[in-house]
Amino acid sequence: MEAMSVPVSGRMIDRRRFLQYTTGAVALVAMPWSTPALGWAAGFSTPHFEFKPINDTITAVFGEGGNCLVAKYRTPTAGLKPYGLLIDCKLSHLGYTLRREIEDQCQVRLTHVINTHHHPDHAGGNHAFNSDLHLIGHQAIKPRIEDNYNLYVEAGRRSAEAGDPPADLAEEYQRYAKWADDATVDDFLPDQLMEDNELELTLGDLKVVLRHEGAGHTDNDVYVHFPQHNVIHTGDLLFYKLHPYFDPPGGSNSVGWQTSVKAVITHCDSETVVIPGHGEITAKDGLQDQADYFDAIRNLVTAARAEGKSRAAITQMKLPGYEAYGFGQVLPRALGAVWEELAKG
Ligand SMILES: [Zn+2]
Ligand SMILES: [Zn+2]
Repeated sequence: MEAMSVPVSGRMIDRRRFLQYTTGAVALVAMPWSTPALGWAAGFSTPHFEFKPINDTITAVFGEGGNCLVAKYRTPTAGLKPYGLLIDCKLSHLGYTLRREIEDQCQVRLTHVINTHHHPDHAGGNHAFNSDLHLIGHQAIKPRIEDNYNLYVEAGRRSAEAGDPPADLAEEYQRYAKWADDATVDDFLPDQLMEDNELELTLGDLKVVLRHEGAGHTDNDVYVHFPQHNVIHTGDLLFYKLHPYFDPPGGSNSVGWQTSVKAVITHCDSETVVIPGHGEITAKDGLQDQADYFDAIRNLVTAARAEGKSRAAITQMKLPGYEAYGFGQVLPRALGAVWEELAKG
């Protein structure tokens, strides 16, 4: 439970290793939010984030990557302007914009950032917060960021340089492109790594509980509970009304993921506000939908294998009952990942 600071050391990855990442050894480029239709690549016209207050303390921040959360806290000596905790930092090229808009819209002085996991739509923007704030992640996030940060930088650079940026963001895009030339892994790494499965923080008048339930969506998933407010940010343990993105090399597995989701449910009651990694704000029922999804997809793939269907044929199947779900382009990936889990036995 005790917070523990761990020194970090930086290293650059060489060009050969970077090319391995970009040629498919790590398939982050195939994530749904990297497609133009979802607004990461060239041509998006509404790069500003959407702020959705949950109450006087907590605000969810939507748009351009994983959903973020800002929580205010006060100390006896804080003065009029509260301090703030941020969960997740969105995509790398939008980090500066995210920070500016949070500080403007929420009127907070940010002090702490939590990463729910290493994916670039959650940790890519870390660089814009890391120099002067306290960043926290699960200990397993460190090797993942070390292996992937150059991909975050380059994908962000491609997005920042593609097309004409919105006029009010042009300066931040230029600042990003200039910074990216000299980026190092230290710019992304948390300075506090969670070694136990639970970490409680008390920040002024705010209580925050971080929990890790083992590998689920990735091997470094953290979900964050605000018990005074009955609010939970799930990270990507929950894709609400969306097909979930499977990243087996990053630790995804349907059994662990379902176990993690069921553990989150144990902290919910009928009033809990649940902010998913992707999708709209939901409640305990949204988490139950996610838990049920894994039964549905495993049952489908189990039956198809019993019928003798090939892996290739199975990855082209639809999932009955989930036709209305978004992120349909990642369903083949989910079916393939579950096929591999079942093939391993
Ligand atoms: Zn995500
Ligand atoms: Zn993710």
